[in-house]
Amino acid sequence: MNNECEIVKDLLPSYIDKLCSKSSENFVSTHLEHCTECKSFYNRMVLELNIEDEIEVIERQQVIQPFQKVSALLKIQKITEKALKWLVIFSLIMILILSTLATSNTTQFNKEQMHQSSIEQEQLEIMSAAFQSLNQNGLESLEDVSLNYARQIKYLAVFERNSVSIDKDISKEPTILYPLPYKDADIVYENGEIITNTITPSDYDIGTMVMEKGNYIIQFEYQDRYLNHVERAFQTKHYAKSLLEIWLPSVITLIITLILLSIWLNLVKSLRRTEGLIE
Ligand SMILES: [Zn+2]
Repeated sequence: MNNECEIVKDLLPSYIDKLCSKSSENFVSTHLEHCTECKSFYNRMVLELNIEDEIEVIERQQVIQPFQKVSALLKIQKITEKALKWLVIFSLIMILILSTLATSNTTQFNKEQMHQSSIEQEQLEIMSAAFQSLNQNGLESLEDVSLNYARQIKYLAVFERNSVSIDKDISKEPTILYPLPYKDADIVYENGEIITNTITPSDYDIGTMVMEKGNYIIQFEYQDRYLNHVERAFQTKHYAKSLLEIWLPSVITLIITLILLSIWLNLVKSLRRTEGLIE
């Protein structure tokens, strides 16, 4: 090791960091080209510096990583929060639409219930009037009943209880039944007149009502043009949606909205907490 080597070793740190003057740099470069000892010393130094750099990078990453994780989590939470907010808004709109629909359906429901009960009331009225007349003034006294309800009924007939067989219990209220054959009737009225010609009974069961009282059965057949009312009442009685069914979609949507709303509010709260921690 000569004097030049000593100088080069002193200069090497500055040389590696590229801090020395142009002339010193040239001096070191030239020396390194032909001095193997200084060259290997130089290589070791560079290697050590590189390792130190790498360690520093890893250490810095270890410090940053948790923060990166928190910020990624925060990002996901923010996206979820936004999606939930829109879901809540959408649900609220759905509630508005569904409850408007249910309100209108409820109005319709009430209207149909009233219509149905008015039809039933009328059936009872016709039967009562017919039986009353029959009991007070006999078989040939039903002209008035037939005429009074001519708008609703086509045929009004009286049968003796024993002359026909019926499986159903028809003693409690006016009951829907396939028409009993008119040839078995004691008397048949149409428009307030007794008729004797052959009648083909309707083959539509909803169009005919029968009721039994004492020794007699009264049967009336609706006018064709009145059948839609009777049919409507029948549909209401047997197939109408209940109020519960009408309101169920709104109620379910309301429950879902409340759940979503509470999840969303909790998320907003937790987001604020996380953001507070980061600051
Ligand atoms: Zn040297």
